[in-house]
Formats: sequence, C-alpha cells, structure tokens
Amino acid sequence: MIIERLELLPFASNCYIVGAESSKEGMIIDPGAEADRILKRVEDLGLKIRLIVLTHGHMDHVGALKEVKEATAAEVAIHADDARSLQARNPFGTVFGLSRQAPPPPDRLLKGGDSIDIGELHFLVLHTPGHTPGGLCLMGEGVVFSGDTLFNFGIGRTDMPGGSYSQLMDSIHTKLMVLPDNTVVYSGHGPETTIGTERQWNPFLQ
Ligand SMILES: [Zn+2]
Ligand SMILES: [Zn+2]
Repeated sequence: MIIERLELLPFASNCYIVGAESSKEGMIIDPGAEADRILKRVEDLGLKIRLIVLTHGHMDHVGALKEVKEATAAEVAIHADDARSLQARNPFGTVFGLSRQAPPPPDRLLKGGDSIDIGELHFLVLHTPGHTPGGLCLMGEGVVFSGDTLFNFGIGRTDMPGGSYSQLMDSIHTKLMVLPDNTVVYSGHGPETTIGTERQWNPFLQ
C-alpha cells in the first residue's frame, strides 16, 4: 500500500494519498489546501484517484476539494452528518482572508460501518463524532486515518460548533482504543503514531 502524507499550508493539516500498488487505484483523504501540490504528487505516483474522502467538513480539510475533484473526476465522500458543513460558509475562510472556492456537494454520504474499496485495499468507515458531528475515521490494512479525532499525544478540539468533549472521548474509547496496538494512526495534523503508543502515553487518555 502506498501512503503519502502531505502537510498543507497554511493550517498544517495532513492530506493523505493512498494507493493500491498493483491496480494503481487511489484515494485522497482531506485535500485541505495546495491543490497543485497534491495533484503533482498523484501524477508522480501514477495513481488513478477513485475517491476523495473527507474526515470532516472543516475548511483546513476541504479547502482544495473543488480543484482536486475537477482534476481527478473522483467522487467525494463525507459522513452524512457533516455534509451540510461543506455548503455552510466556513468562518476560517473569512478569518484568514483566504479566497477560497466553494466546495462541491458530496457524491456519496457515508455512515459508520460502510466499506470503502480502492483496488485491492479495503477500509471500514468508523463514525467518530465529537470534533464535529460527522467526523469519521477510516480503518483498514493495519492503519487508521483518524482525522481530527486523535493525534499523536493529542485529541481533537471540541470547542467549535457541533463539538462535544464527551462524544469525542466516547468515540476514541469505543472506536479507536479497541483496535490492535500496532495499528498505525495517520492523523489530520502532526506525525503518525500507533494505537498502542497513544493508549499508553496520550495525556488525554490516562
Ligand atoms: Zn477539524
Ligand atoms: Zn484540522
């Protein structure tokens, strides 16, 4: 499996390019900004992007969605409970004075338990509300893409609209901490970690 992490400016949000090595099919998780850089990397890897998955609807994860969707013609998938935030005017764009193009509507609304197949790769959607109502993690192939739910030594903030600390902790404990220790965690911000490392050392989980 090919996994490429691109840390995007200006929000230091992670975009992941995930590819199946034999079929060369791929998906992009959270194209938050820097569309040209994402698309260049996809081209270098020789991947045919089938799907763009959004871990949630925040600006720092969807900001380059329109350009990346137009260039790849891939379908866009987001959890149903965050779909509306794609349409809503996002405060980040105003606060940081960014000119941003309105994201396109999703093609596929996800829910917990849905499966996502990219070539020979298989993933399961975990609904992990708390950071946002429709936050999701994608689990499979020994890894989990955790969006802004769980970070290396951190957890997602819950002080934005739709956030809930108790929901976030419930999501982490019932959906993520039940995964094997050696599961590699690819977060929405910051470096990768493992479930075992976070179980033992994450200050919010003690
Ligand atoms: Zn977020
Ligand atoms: Zn984020």
